[in-house]
Amino acid sequence: MAKKLLLFTDLDGCLLNKHDYDWRPAEHTLNRLADLGVPVIVATSKTASEVRALLDEIPICPAPFIAENGGAIEWGPWQGNSDASENTGPSRTVILEILNSLTTRYRFRSFETLGISGVMKQTGLPLAEARRALNRQCTEPLLWDDTDSQLARFRAELDSNQLTLTRGGRFWHVAGRTSKGAALTKIVDEFGGEQTVVAAVGDSQIDQSMLDLADLPVGIRVNGTLSVRVSVPPGIIPESEGAAGWAEAVSEILDRIN
Ligand SMILES: [Mg+2]
Repeated sequence: MAKKLLLFTDLDGCLLNKHDYDWRPAEHTLNRLADLGVPVIVATSKTASEVRALLDEIPICPAPFIAENGGAIEWGPWQGNSDASENTGPSRTVILEILNSLTTRYRFRSFETLGISGVMKQTGLPLAEARRALNRQCTEPLLWDDTDSQLARFRAELDSNQLTLTRGGRFWHVAGRTSKGAALTKIVDEFGGEQTVVAAVGDSQIDQSMLDLADLPVGIRVNGTLSVRVSVPPGIIPESEGAAGWAEAVSEILDRIN
């Protein structure tokens, strides 16, 4: 391969199917990437401990990954040091203090208030996985139970505290002024070069900052609807959804640059 490809990807709705979290429809393409030595750089709302558990199963080259929507960059897998992690924004403790000050005026349920049983119920995750989801560093997911106009006010209050509110697939995410795109830039600055091609795969609004910075953005539909902006070409919008769509788009990228 003449050009060096850095492939960034969201997980849920992209490399993992939305409905059953299966990645196996992409197995052949993942093996092809591994044979070519192309790093698959996961960029997800999941926590670092959730990603580590998943990467034990998925056949990809050692690579850094982006956890908690860009709030954390785990450099370790590429540096042979599993502890090399970087928080790019405020800690979860700081975020929870601010959310606690807003609970009397707005109706919402954060992971902290849902607790382990609530998180299991809302996400359908078994105990061990719910524990990993609660093992957070720098973001807090929440379910919004109030009106749209209240949501606008809530967002403004978070903004005055230098926090952001973004909709993910299922939950709203409160975070510092971090993004998957900013984390992508840090990784490209560290590992990219003149001949580097950056591809990024996403399916929801939270992935847009990453898609906007990619040479080759890929947008995957969910239930027939595309929720991200991708110009085609050079971007790709595969016909299939989930892991099959991911494999379709990534195969096309490999064909194009080889
Ligand atoms: Mg997604």
